[in-house]
Amino acid sequence: MIKVTVWNEFIHENVNEHVRSIYPEGIHNEIAKFLSKNEDIQVRTATLREHNHGLDDEILDDTDVLIWWGHAAHHEVSDEIVAKVHECVLKGMGFIALHSAHYSKPFIKLMGTSCSLRWRDDDRERLWCVNPGHPIARGVPEYFEIPNEEMYGEFFDIPTPDELVFLGWFRGGEVFRSGCVFNRGYGKVFYFQPGHETHPIYKDENIQRIITNAVYYLNPVKRRERISADCTKAPEEDL
Ligand code: ZN
Repeated sequence: MIKVTVWNEFIHENVNEHVRSIYPEGIHNEIAKFLSKNEDIQVRTATLREHNHGLDDEILDDTDVLIWWGHAAHHEVSDEIVAKVHECVLKGMGFIALHSAHYSKPFIKLMGTSCSLRWRDDDRERLWCVNPGHPIARGVPEYFEIPNEEMYGEFFDIPTPDELVFLGWFRGGEVFRSGCVFNRGYGKVFYFQPGHETHPIYKDENIQRIITNAVYYLNPVKRRERISADCTKAPEEDL
């Protein structure tokens, strides 16, 4: 059983009528709904305004893959929780950063760069698979189109990805590294660009397949169970 926690800041859905009409139960529940169709995936959700942002130690310890959607309130996420998420990834937990989570505190900490990018309003996107043999691309066509998505373009200030799986092209001519895998300690990170809140991106079958594939791919192969508070030190059994 793979235990997934879908975290959403859950602000746009509460203040914007249009976003609420697309995701009446929030983006987190939309993602939880399609992931739950898999018998071997157990999903829970967590949101910003819950105590500890819904990420108590017991929840993080019991999470194999953490999915993160945030945009309007990255600054409200406590540094203490960010440090714990970071440590969990180094110990083996998978972390999927969706769309505007490129500017989330945990993603920036995991990357070590500014994670800035070029952006403008909506355009048609064609998402190309540039690594068809990759497990995250299983069952995904060589390209598919998203009729309306916020444009994200290069230069995207991230470290060179360990694995590049998708490349986005926009009608305005911009390109973007839209699906990237990074190895961090015992864990893996997947950044996936589509997902602007004013369009029903997470209802798209290909998008759902990619996120589901990513959950399986990021499920920890080996976890470092005993670790000192300081992740830069090797645990006793490794010495
Ligand atoms: Zn957006």
